[in-house]
Amino acid sequence: MSTFEPIPKTMKAAVIPSTGASLVIRDDEPVPQPEDLLPGECLVKMDCTGVCHTDLHAAKGDWPIPAKTPLIGGHEGVGIVVAIGAHTQDSPVKLGDRVGIKWLADSCLDCESCRKGLEQVCLKGKYSGFTVDGTFSEYVHSYVRHVTPIPDGIGSAEAASILCAGVTVYRAIKYSHCSIGDWIVLPGAGGGLGHLAVQYASAMGLRVLAIDTGADKRDLVMKLGAEKWIDFKETKDLVKDIQDATDGLGPHAAVITAATGKAYEQAIDYLRPGGYLMAVGLPAKASLSADIFFTVTKSISILGSYVGNRQDAREALDIAARGKVKCYFSTKSLSALKETYEGLEKGNIVGRIVLDFKRQ
Ligand code: NAD
Ligand code: ZN
Repeated sequence: MSTFEPIPKTMKAAVIPSTGASLVIRDDEPVPQPEDLLPGECLVKMDCTGVCHTDLHAAKGDWPIPAKTPLIGGHEGVGIVVAIGAHTQDSPVKLGDRVGIKWLADSCLDCESCRKGLEQVCLKGKYSGFTVDGTFSEYVHSYVRHVTPIPDGIGSAEAASILCAGVTVYRAIKYSHCSIGDWIVLPGAGGGLGHLAVQYASAMGLRVLAIDTGADKRDLVMKLGAEKWIDFKETKDLVKDIQDATDGLGPHAAVITAATGKAYEQAIDYLRPGGYLMAVGLPAKASLSADIFFTVTKSISILGSYVGNRQDAREALDIAARGKVKCYFSTKSLSALKETYEGLEKGNIVGRIVLDFKRQ
């Protein structure tokens, strides 16, 4: 075992005691101690962490698979490696390195999924802030093979939300079969994932039709590169408005990052023949119903897209470090997590909230 600096015994952490229970900020949460780290494990001292809508779903127990409890949520963290387990061989990171912690905390790297680069569905996968404790604490136990080196040229707060929101939309757009000049529609465009999707899509030469609600989100997405905008609360005929905005034929792809089933409802109707529906948003207790006749006769492809692998994470970060994509965020302290959840629930957070551990 090797350490970078003395490690305290207790830390500040935001804890969900049981599913659906209110969040508690604790000062006396035990810090995973360096001598307890197994080979391949590490301890990361957090600098900052983004807050994703997924953290709220996990806290509320929205999904068919429950999160562990008590739970420390969070899966968009940046910090410094301060300890590495004894007997760790060939670690890709060393003490003092700045790294990111993403949703996929660890995977076996040896099953068929991992070998094919689909490590996010590894049956032995561990998920930060879901099946293992995540980044809403000052120190996080993690795994050397899956932490992501943060490139120079990007600040920690700027990098944080690239680790989930950025990677996820980058990968979804990459597999949406769009080519330069194609139309892509982004329901959820003003949220954490969506505002990054606007920028990755623009950087790839796609034409962006952004959908969300309110003047603040409209102004942000138009500034970030969207060509057209529809307010989902104001439109009287969503399908017609989307098709009118996209040459009358509809978009080539839809990347849906809204956290509500409603945003999926008319996608088969408005997509262009041959179009791709990229399912990303994970609403509670929702199912995707598609008219089979039109799915077949329009040759629509429906693909689920789940975060990204280690290579996607590096690519998404590299694009951000080169200034092509910038997270739009406000920083707050860990104690503001509860109000951040309330804001996400009401849909009034524009871009992302990033929690900075240096703030009180
Ligand atoms: P967010 O709350 O920041 O953004 C969601 C946005 O959707 C908001 O701006 C909201 O106004 C908008 N919206 C709500 N209803 C809409 C509608 N009918 N049409 C268009 N827009 C609508 O949330 P986020 O952090 O960006 O996460 C979004 C979803 O993506 C969550 O369900 C989250 O769990 C999921 N997610 C999935 C993956 C994955 O790997 N697939 C990864 C991360 C997050
Ligand atoms: Zn997330």
